[in-house]
Amino acid sequence: MGATLGKLLLPERRYWPYWVLAAACAFLPDADVIGFKFHVPYASLWGHRGLSHSLLAAAVVASGLTLLTAWRRPVGAPPLGRLLLLLALATASHGVLDAMTTGGEGVAFFSPFDTERYFFPLRPIAVSPIGVKKFVGAWAARVLRSEVQWVLLPCLLVLLAQAALRRFRGPVAA
Ligand SMILES: [Zn+2]
Repeated sequence: MGATLGKLLLPERRYWPYWVLAAACAFLPDADVIGFKFHVPYASLWGHRGLSHSLLAAAVVASGLTLLTAWRRPVGAPPLGRLLLLLALATASHGVLDAMTTGGEGVAFFSPFDTERYFFPLRPIAVSPIGVKKFVGAWAARVLRSEVQWVLLPCLLVLLAQAALRRFRGPVAA
């Protein structure tokens, strides 16, 4: 999802490192599972899918990374506003997809101002077990199947549509 957003917002191939960065941002919120090792309760502010999955965290991560690239601006870097938008959307997309899963606690989108956990009414994505060791067998297969169906395929379709549109329009003059 992060890489797809990257390709949509920064379509030129030379921007591929930013697609990778956006993909990493989309993974980042789940770094909060480390809290389980320290017995942080799931439903607490710092728990899994809590503050780390909020829109505020997405804004902070995106702003921090964009400031870093502004400070050491590589040659041919994308426009900062576009990059900020991409990284914020990519990081926030994680919570959006989590809120469409079949289990666990909901997502604290508005934390720390409102610590309520939310799910969307549409929840077709099979929830993943927490921890690599538990990601085996029928449950893992079910998760992978539903992620292919509800995340990977729609992303590929959107990218195909974008490629078709770009071909139809022809190369955009720089
Ligand atoms: Zn998550």
